[in-house]
Amino acid sequence: MTRYSAWSVLREGFNGQRGWDPAWRSPEPKPRYDIVIIGGGGHGLATAYYLAKNHGLRNVAVLEKGWIGGGNSGRNTTIVRSNYYYPQSAKLYDFSLKLYENLSRELNYNIMLSQRGMVTTTHSRHDLESAARWVGAMNANGVPAQMLTTAQVKRRIPLLDVSPTARFPVLGGFVQERAGSARHDAVVWGYARAASQLGVDIIQNCEVQGIERSREGRVVAVQTSRGRIESGKTAMAAAGHSSVLADMAGFRLPITSYALQAFVSEPLKPVIDTVLLSLATGMYISQSDKGGLVIGGGLDLYPSYAQRGNLPVVRNVIGAVVDQMPSLGRARFLRQWAGIVDVVQDSSPILGETPIPGLYINCGWGTGGFKAIPAGGWMLSHHIATGSPHPIAEPFALRRFFTGDLIDEAAASGIAH
Ligand SMILES: Cc1cc2nc3c(=O)[nH]c(=O)nc-3n(C[C@H](O)[C@H](O)[C@H](O)COP(=O)(O)OP(=O)(O)OC[C@H]3O[C@@H](n4cnc5c(N)ncnc54)[C@H](O)[C@@H]3O)c2cc1C
Repeated sequence: MTRYSAWSVLREGFNGQRGWDPAWRSPEPKPRYDIVIIGGGGHGLATAYYLAKNHGLRNVAVLEKGWIGGGNSGRNTTIVRSNYYYPQSAKLYDFSLKLYENLSRELNYNIMLSQRGMVTTTHSRHDLESAARWVGAMNANGVPAQMLTTAQVKRRIPLLDVSPTARFPVLGGFVQERAGSARHDAVVWGYARAASQLGVDIIQNCEVQGIERSREGRVVAVQTSRGRIESGKTAMAAAGHSSVLADMAGFRLPITSYALQAFVSEPLKPVIDTVLLSLATGMYISQSDKGGLVIGGGLDLYPSYAQRGNLPVVRNVIGAVVDQMPSLGRARFLRQWAGIVDVVQDSSPILGETPIPGLYINCGWGTGGFKAIPAGGWMLSHHIATGSPHPIAEPFALRRFFTGDLIDEAAASGIAH
């Protein structure tokens, strides 16, 4: 397969662009694989890639009911960060950020990682105290972060109204400098291309409709819209549809599926060169390379599988933008959409075994699993290949809901993750 480089771009420029290979193969499904992964989002594809690369397991298929990246991995607002409170979360998400830092080189695919920093603003003394505790925890966890004064916030984000009479006066904030954004499609396509090169079969338009178990209860095959496929081991990485698949396999997950919306404005000249998150409103904003403002906010607070989202949330999020940056009041919005996110009560992921022998799981990332794609894939592939959890993934096992060892990030930091 062609290696992407400045040289290959130049060569193909002279060659009429005739020499490019398809980025990944699209084979017919085989009747049996050693490992079948359900879900061709970032986590499913990264799991397949690390199974092949780290563990030499190549008889692997990723089954995707639509097109790869058509779920949340292609619908998110692309923020990457590791600003977590508890050491368990910090280890997981910072491992992911470190993998992101070398991912373009590793995959030979430009994921457009831009570590432009993320500024979290506080709007009350209570917020400020939470932020100070949060920054203390981050630094103790080995993830550098600094508190900012109101003047420092204003210097970094001149658009913000920080006056004491503002609807949301800014009392300061904090920054993680290594946070930023990456191009979501590129992450999905980069993992798909690299996994396919290593022999993984990526099978799109292949919906899993049933999970077959042996008399002893082990998962032995999946029924799909393209026929029955036997599997030695099976993994689910289906985000908001994890409960549907768990139901097919015969167990229940502590997950509620909600719509989460995102918005993009018309392209503007550069107006913000960092990521901003406002603690009081949950609104966050960054600017894409094309100039569009990429904006998100809180969940639509009723369970749903509809990828649309409702109007009160549109009003709240856009209201929060205009209240805090009045000069954006006349910017026009081009697009709005939603994805279905998999929310767990303690707002931490579920990684590893399920109660069903031969069935593994990667889910529960909720509103924040894009940044975790490299780590999620690494951890699940380790468990599938070796039969035991990676030490970083151990605290995130499903059994924590029986033992009570929950890792409640939302309660600790004051915002949903
Ligand atoms: C609007 C929005 C903004 C977000 N912003 C951020 C952000 O800024 N930063 C961040 O870190 N995270 C963010 N997230 C969360 C992040 O997008 C997700 O946590 C992450 O993409 C989940 O990846 P995944 O691979 O697990 O799921 P997905 O990408 O959803 O992939 C799951 C795949 O499984 C497939 N599937 C489902 N059922 C079946 C079946 N029966 N058979 C076969 N295939 C099936 C689906 O079609 C889908 O493609 C956001 C999410 C949304 C919706």
